[in-house]
Amino acid sequence: MTSLSNFTTIRVGGQPKEISVASTHAEVLAGAKKLWEESEHWVILGGGSNIVFADDVSDLSVLLVQSKGIEDLGSGRVRVQAGNNWNEFVLYACNKGWAGVESLAGIPGTVGASPIQNIGAYGQEVASTITTVEFLDYKSGELQILTNEDCSFTYRDSIFKQGKQGVITWVEFQFGKEDSVSLLTKAHDVISQRASKGMVLDAADNDTWSCGSFFTNPIVSESFARTLPLDAPQWEVEEGKVKLSAAWLIENSGLSKGFKLGNSGAAISTKHALAITNRGTATAEQVVELARFIQTQVSNKFGINLVPEPNLIGF
Ligand SMILES: Cc1cc2nc3c(=O)[nH]c(=O)nc-3n(C[C@H](O)[C@H](O)[C@H](O)COP(=O)(O)OP(=O)(O)OC[C@H]3O[C@@H](n4cnc5c(N)ncnc54)[C@H](O)[C@@H]3O)c2cc1C
Repeated sequence: MTSLSNFTTIRVGGQPKEISVASTHAEVLAGAKKLWEESEHWVILGGGSNIVFADDVSDLSVLLVQSKGIEDLGSGRVRVQAGNNWNEFVLYACNKGWAGVESLAGIPGTVGASPIQNIGAYGQEVASTITTVEFLDYKSGELQILTNEDCSFTYRDSIFKQGKQGVITWVEFQFGKEDSVSLLTKAHDVISQRASKGMVLDAADNDTWSCGSFFTNPIVSESFARTLPLDAPQWEVEEGKVKLSAAWLIENSGLSKGFKLGNSGAAISTKHALAITNRGTATAEQVVELARFIQTQVSNKFGINLVPEPNLIGF
């Protein structure tokens, strides 16, 4: 049995009790039912790019979702199987002239995980194109069709992160129409901007052995934001609320890019203050230790509690 470090982009995590693979829609449904019948501790895994498994996960059973397929339903409506690679799907969509996800190019992982934290980048969020999601519900055992509204999407959040457990089997999108050349140009521009920050996977570059951003950008009241230094970046998100830059808070709490604790194998990326990376020898414990240290620094300096973005399993 191989360890979960082989299935996650930050490359940490111990050996689980079991990993089973689902390669078709039917296998996802059957695999999830079997998993839930037989295991108390279970996880659905896609590309492993937003998850940190502990070093000891010996009681955990994992279902790896690898079902593929893109179905053109006409008039810009498209159904995609959960295990489809996200970035490949984005480039396929751009080629077809389907507009709405081009700025999300280069994000690792699967289509089935994209609704979980409502992935977003460069001003776009996946919630603005998702119409429905097929979901096998853990509690009721029901196969449900959830509308966009049912998913309660907000910034890096959805009903799935708020405790609705189960498996997403496919996602349906509604796209606009745009010239494919301009969509592809936009997607490739985004990919090169991301690459310069270590935000595109590259096995040869340790700065990309990460979960992307390790913390979400905090949303605070306008009155609290006024207590921060004038150069702290802030964006109004709704009446009376502003979003702050977690990267700025980290760098201005005294931690610089590349920072690590002693001989730890985990370090802040040398290209982006918001990414915790594995320099080659990191354990899950070292990743979490660095995350806690960053949280303490930022909290002591600014009174803000940074919230981890990836799912932490087994800690
Ligand atoms: C270099 C890098 C850059 C990144 N940049 C961004 C970015 O710009 N914006 C952004 O939003 N994210 C970013 N991420 C985070 C990550 O890529 C996304 O969150 C992605 O959607 C995770 O997909 P995954 O298949 O790898 O999910 P996994 O890591 O496998 O799983 C993540 C969570 O989703 C659950 N899950 C996965 N598949 C399913 C399913 N089919 N049904 C139910 N639950 C499921 C898992 O149980 C887990 O809780 C980045 C990550 C990396 C490594």
